[in-house]
Formats: sequence, structure tokens, C-alpha cells
Amino acid sequence: MKIKVDYDVCEANAVCMGLAPDVFEVDEDDNLHVLLPEPPRETLDRVRHAVRSCPKAALSLHDE
Ligand code: SF4
Repeated sequence: MKIKVDYDVCEANAVCMGLAPDVFEVDEDDNLHVLLPEPPRETLDRVRHAVRSCPKAALSLHDE
């Protein structure tokens, strides 16, 4: 599974970071970084929760 981000709609509110801080990071300049673009299996529940919880629907998961 691979995380995709629509950076055009992400507003860097860090909801995803709050739910999966090992995978998503919003820096001091309000830039989102995906720390684990291909998240390991043990993180997937949290990643899916973060994807569903993004208020801008900027995140998606894809089979690669
Ligand atoms: S929750 Fe969505 S809008 Fe907020 S920082 Fe994460 S990807 Fe961007």
C-alpha cells in the first residue's frame, strides 16, 4: 500500500499527524511530510483512520 497526498487541497491542519505521528509530519512551515510513504502493515489501521479523518480528503491509499 502506498500513501498519496493531494498537496493542492491539504491545509496542514495536522489531523493525520495526530492520529499517526510515525507516518505523517507537519513541519513548522506547514508542510506535510509523509515519513513512511509505503507504511508497514502494523501501521495500516492508524493510516486508514488518518486517511478517513482528513477533513480535506487529501489522503488516499493505493495498491502498488
Ligand atoms: S489531515 Fe489532511 S489536510 Fe490535515 S495535514 Fe493531514 S493531509 Fe493535510
